This record gives sequence, C-alpha cells and structure tokens, in this order.
Amino acid sequence: MANPPLPLVRIGGTPREMGLELGRARKDSIRHMITNVQAFLEETYGQIRLSWPEAILQAHKYLPFAQELTPRYVEELRFAAEGADVSFDDLMVLNCLEAITTDALHLLGCTTFALTEEHTAEGRVMIGHNEDWLPADESDVFLLHAEPDGEPGYLAMTYGALVPNIGFNAAGICQCCDSVYPTDVRIGVPRVFVSRAVLAARTISSAITAAIAPHRAAGYNHVLVHSSGEVYNVEVSARHFAMMYAQAGMLVHTNHYLSRRMARLENDSQHLIGSRVRYFRATRLLRRSHRHDLNSLQGILRDHVNYPNSICSHEAIDDNPLDRQKTVCSLIVDLNEKQMHAAWGAPCQNEYHTYRLEV
Ligand SMILES: [Zn+2]
Repeated sequence: MANPPLPLVRIGGTPREMGLELGRARKDSIRHMITNVQAFLEETYGQIRLSWPEAILQAHKYLPFAQELTPRYVEELRFAAEGADVSFDDLMVLNCLEAITTDALHLLGCTTFALTEEHTAEGRVMIGHNEDWLPADESDVFLLHAEPDGEPGYLAMTYGALVPNIGFNAAGICQCCDSVYPTDVRIGVPRVFVSRAVLAARTISSAITAAIAPHRAAGYNHVLVHSSGEVYNVEVSARHFAMMYAQAGMLVHTNHYLSRRMARLENDSQHLIGSRVRYFRATRLLRRSHRHDLNSLQGILRDHVNYPNSICSHEAIDDNPLDRQKTVCSLIVDLNEKQMHAAWGAPCQNEYHTYRLEV
C-alpha cells in the first residue's frame, strides 16, 4: 500500500521555541522511535551487548562535546524532549546511536548523487538521495521547514527526534550525508550535531569547515552543493578528511570511502560490497544522459539492480536484525527552484510530492 505525502512540520524562532514546537508536533512519532530503538537493542543484545541504561550512560559521554560545539542544537533537543514529554536522555541515545552501537549497524546504506547544469535538461543543479535506515522507523520520517533566529531557514528530512541534517538552506547550500565506517572513532561530537551545523552554513567553504569540526566522534560522507553548481564531496573520519570536487559536473557517493587516503581507515571493507555495487550502478545510469530531469532521476532512485541491496533498497526476508534496512525516504532537490521532491518509503512504491523552501 502506498504512503501519503510526507508530513511537513513548520517551526521557527529561538532554539527553545523550535524545540517545543517540534516536540509537540511530533510527539507520537518521537515516542515510537524510542520504543523501536529500545526493541532493537533488546533484539540485538546478544551481538551488541547494550542495554538501555548502558546506552544512556554511553550517550552521556558525548554530551559535553555536543554542548561545546553546538549548544544551540543541544538546547533545541532538550526542548523537543520537553515538548514531546520524553526524557532528554532517551533523545540523546537516538542521536548517538551510530556511535554507541560502535557502528554495528554496518549495512545501513544511503545513495547520493549531484548533477550540475551540464547534466540536466534545464540547466538545474540537482541532488538525489535515498535514505536507507531501519524499516521500523519508516513511519517516523517527516520534513521540517525551519526558520531559526539568526541562521538560514532550511527544508530538511529527518525522523523521530534525530537532529536534522539532510536538506538545503536559504543560502543555497545542500547537504546529503552517507554513513561511512572509519576505524579512528572516539568519544567526541556525535555526527548528527556536526552535520546539523553544516546545514546552517552560508558558503561552501564554511560548510566544508563545519563538516570537519574539531573533536568530532567520527564522520559521515558529506555531499555539499551550492546553487551556483559547486559540488564537493567531503569524506570524514574522527581525525582525517578528504575533499573531492565533482568530475565533469557529476558526483556519486554511497557508503565506502572513495579517496585512497580515507580507504585506509575503513573498517570491515568486505561488508561494503553492496555499497560499491550501488556506486557503480548509479554512476553508469547518470552517465547515460546529459539531460536529466525529475523523471529520469526518479528512475535512477527506483533502480532494482542487485535487489534487495539495490539503489532502491528493500528488506531481505532472512535479514539479521543488524542488517535490516530499506529505503525509508527518497529525495530530489532542485536548488535553483528551492524545491524538494520527496517520496515516503521505497520510491518504487510511492509517488514523489513537491515541497518548497519559502524563506
Ligand atoms: Zn524498490
């Protein structure tokens, strides 16, 4: 059965106002995600050995680092907890989940690509992203239209009470993140707080600088695009990074490090074969045309080669709970039109709907 259009929540003002509005608007979904993650940790206790009280203890170690780098987003999260009438500790666990499970969620995917005017029919700068995550959280995905005091407004996709980081802002900066698996992880600023700060950047260089913030716990891959057509890929770990520039106006990233420098830091590369297959498949499909439009890009995000670990990712029936994932949301951003076309769930089964940043 197809999903309806994604819910859109509008918030704005101070961190306190934004947090409270978000917590109240998404109360049921925030509670649902906490319950899901609790059930997930119970189900995988034999492998990860992390009870909920232990998860809270672990998440507490990351809090001072998040507080120091991004006090504003920690405050927003505190008030989101108040608005949803849940404990802040529980929300910190959700926002530190990748770190405190020591990246046991190893097969979590995501496919991202960016195209400049040379590759699109109407000279647009466009970004595509499939968000692959725990299937049980699909119902918690929503879009956020935010107008924070003193920072650029943004339109982002997130779920439950995860600090938003995938989307674009009024300064014309778009960010999509893909999980990567470095070996140099440490206690530090959790990835989602680092990448939330990127979404507040007003220039491409400040976006890149924010992605490599000091004392970060680990790193994502950040595809960073400016509406002028500047496209960068920044591969990050806790202590290292590599920058790449789009070749011939096109860039693709999945979940393995592409740069030689970062590949040396990759943990368990043998578990990332599916990521490599998605990378080459998306690259080939994008190269087929110099006149991509919304339809052709939707077709690529719906691709099923190497099913179920395809670009449009599906849950395999016999999956280990740690490997269970599917595409929970699919996005195409048109930076020139300030539009996001988003499908809720696997894009092969769901229509894209159009949302606009109105700031
Ligand atoms: Zn599909």
